[in-house]
Amino acid sequence: MTQTNGKYTTTDAGIPVESDEHSLTVGSAGPILLQDAYLIEQMAQFNRERIPERQPHAKGSGAFGRFEVTNDVSAYTKAEVFQPGTTTGLVARFSTVAGERGSPDTWRDPRGFALKFYTPEGNYDLVGNNTPVFFVKDPMKFQHFIRSQKRLACNNLRDHDMQWDFWTLSPESAHQVTWLMGDRGIPRTWRHMNGYGSHTYMWINESGERFWVKYTFKTDQGIEFFTQHEGDQMCSMDTDYHTRDLWEHIRDGDHPSWTMYVQIMPYADAAGYRFNPFDLTKVWPHGDYPLIEVGRMTLDRNPTDNHTEIEQAAFQPNNLVPGIGPSPDRMLLARLFSYADAQRARIGANYQQLPVNTPRMAHPNSYTKDGAMRFVPVCDPVYAPNSKGGPVADVASCGTPPSWYADGEITRTAHVSHPEDDDWGQARALIREVMDEPARERLVDNVVGHLLNGVTAPVLERAFGYWRAIDTEVGDRIRSGVQAKKAMADPKAEEQGNAARSGIRKKS
Ligand code: NDP
Repeated sequence: MTQTNGKYTTTDAGIPVESDEHSLTVGSAGPILLQDAYLIEQMAQFNRERIPERQPHAKGSGAFGRFEVTNDVSAYTKAEVFQPGTTTGLVARFSTVAGERGSPDTWRDPRGFALKFYTPEGNYDLVGNNTPVFFVKDPMKFQHFIRSQKRLACNNLRDHDMQWDFWTLSPESAHQVTWLMGDRGIPRTWRHMNGYGSHTYMWINESGERFWVKYTFKTDQGIEFFTQHEGDQMCSMDTDYHTRDLWEHIRDGDHPSWTMYVQIMPYADAAGYRFNPFDLTKVWPHGDYPLIEVGRMTLDRNPTDNHTEIEQAAFQPNNLVPGIGPSPDRMLLARLFSYADAQRARIGANYQQLPVNTPRMAHPNSYTKDGAMRFVPVCDPVYAPNSKGGPVADVASCGTPPSWYADGEITRTAHVSHPEDDDWGQARALIREVMDEPARERLVDNVVGHLLNGVTAPVLERAFGYWRAIDTEVGDRIRSGVQAKKAMADPKAEEQGNAARSGIRKKS
């Protein structure tokens, strides 16, 4: 028998096995036998090792840690996880969005920043990104957006033409695309990026007062990024660079941390604010709603099994505890459904019974039962209401549900009713007021390189217009950069192209 660390190998049923190396055969040169149950178990289980990867956010990893409250925000929320002096265990997962499970960590892409807090009031999930905004603001476009960033149907290749086709026909993407093409589009490591809840949520205090809230996690390691060239080099040197970096730093006791802040908007401000505060393509400027410190998240424990603890970790923004609720943000309202649904499809109906997903500080007491792979026994009664001692909903501990006033005709329209509900202004502010000239230069270079990678003429023209709408000067620099590089690559074709274009203009 094989013996390692004093443990004998067994089958999954716990039965000792005779060999880890040799199949059962008829004589040493003869055929193998169907009765070799251990061999068959090894082969069959291997065939079933993979579960479907996440549709977006497939490539990622994570770690465990804690959240310590450092400031008193009890005036805004009664959630226990954010009460003074509280420390809560959590699991965090970071990821790229568009790439598959084996894809490089250093592609230009937003990064997922998903957290599950194991609170005494049940699991609280904050499923954010390393960007404060997103490409679209209506869930109807989400599926189309993700497909445009993934692969063509015909040849299974990623395609910049498809990406820019979607973006330039979706002007609401401008803010996030500007962010993505800037320095923070390739973080140096996960430790060196911020996290954002991105959506607007509701906080409710002990007296039932309501506030709108946005979350920011600022890295305590400082922001660091890769240039496009460095990111490209790292793709070939170490495709798993971010995964490795996080793992090794935690293993070596260098525990990364982030300071969490919130922006608080009084409930009544939303109706009269200068733009729709529930629009996921916009930030709340800090000048309007300053950052208020809440606490610190520290990651200090690596998983022992990436599959059971990270790949099967199921984050879902509908896991909201008393004192925290959703908002009218359309993207958030759709994600409340789609994330839990994705976990059921990806892992199975009873995914919340897996150790990484099950509440650690609260006891689940629900009326769901049965389904594939259910392993926590259910007790009678299995229905409510009942007079048999089953659990009863406790309105007192939940308080009134998070709510806001909604009224109107049923419609399919964009939300445009505020003076600054435009698509370009905040992207322009990022370029003009936040980036310095070297950062703008890198932005132009990144966009030029991206556009030169297979973007076809009609889409390319729209891309120049898109960037001019964000910022005229940057738009013109992008156009000249693309034309100059094309001319260098193929001077004749560029001359012919120019002649043809001027001919068309003369005719018209
Ligand atoms: P502020 O000057 O108060 O804040 C600027 C923000 O931009 C900081 O949070 C900073 O993060 C972040 N930042 C700095 N460089 C970059 C970059 N290259 N790419 C992305 N973000 C960067 O400005 P306002 O709040 O008035 O917002 C102005 C613009 O800043 C917005 O239009 C938006 O594009 C961007 N921004 C705003 C955020 C917000 O929540 N208000 C959050 C992130 C970006 P840090 O402090 O960590 O360096």
